[in-house]
Amino acid sequence: MKLLTISVPAYNEETMIVPLYERIVEVMNEVKETYTFELLFINDGSKDGTLDQMKALHKKDNRVVFVDLSRNYGKEVAMAAGFDYAKGDALVTMDADLQHPPEVILEMLKLWELGYEDVYAKRNRREGETWLKKATSKMYYRILQKVARIPVLPDAGDFRLLDRRCIEALKQMRETNRYTKGLYSWIGFKKIEVTFDAAPRYDGQSKWNYQSLINLALEGITSYTTFPLRLSTYSGFIVSAAAFIYMIYLFIKTLLFGADTSGFPSLMIIILFLGGVQLISIGIIGEYLGRIFQEVKKRPLYFVESYNEDKETVNEKG
Ligand code: UDP
Ligand code: MG
Repeated sequence: MKLLTISVPAYNEETMIVPLYERIVEVMNEVKETYTFELLFINDGSKDGTLDQMKALHKKDNRVVFVDLSRNYGKEVAMAAGFDYAKGDALVTMDADLQHPPEVILEMLKLWELGYEDVYAKRNRREGETWLKKATSKMYYRILQKVARIPVLPDAGDFRLLDRRCIEALKQMRETNRYTKGLYSWIGFKKIEVTFDAAPRYDGQSKWNYQSLINLALEGITSYTTFPLRLSTYSGFIVSAAAFIYMIYLFIKTLLFGADTSGFPSLMIIILFLGGVQLISIGIIGEYLGRIFQEVKKRPLYFVESYNEDKETVNEKG
């Protein structure tokens, strides 16, 4: 019997826990001859009854286990906790809101048996999402794809099956500014895609607002490529070269025709333009510097309040 860990980060999802559990049991019953499963919930500092739901399920069914983080760390870190606590030969990460249909797991398992180590599910359609979210996400991936050397797959999110080898690899990536989608491509291994139709959220509200999406997008670019740094170097060069040519032109013009104060507007334009370029470059450098600052602290990724209600000793895994 192979053990499959199904890891689910959950933040304020009290109404989803039981329906999700029921759907998963239904699906896993179909393959109960070959696989046992462990449903690993990561409670990411929920403020509602999510933890109580997990506790109740754990009492009822010992295949349900949970890790209770000491506060809300965000989904990326919660998923990292999932990698740390998974016991399975393979792991499936999925969202709690049933946007990832559990039935796809069966298809993933088949591909895993064929030797694929990272089976990622790709959305076909996005129901219940605004056109603005769809359009911005499409544009973002197009840009990221262009600047990153490693392909990041659009529409392939955090619904995937990972072989034990991938889990061990991901466990070694302890960066605090996490962009897990980038990490999946970074570690390599044999990948294959399955497609699925994303369902609308089962209940409640998406926790992502535009602010946090923009933050994650920035994370994706800056933790993944140094292209923006090079971009600012290039533009610096181009602007300086243009300014240099203009300087020579002004010099010759003054020698031949004498000085006049009519150059004031062009002077202002150049000063303002250069000032802008410099501010942008400093901002980009600041983005990277900030991330270095975060990483050199070498803080643990997270702290755990309890694992299946047993108090964990501080910093055992984080
Ligand atoms: N989530 C989490 N911590 C957070 C925010 C979200 O663990 O701080 C979980 C959430 O419970 C869900 C998954 O991440 O299981 C995806 O969240 P959501 O459905 O809000 O995002 P979307 O589907 O809109 O991308
Ligand atoms: Mg969702």
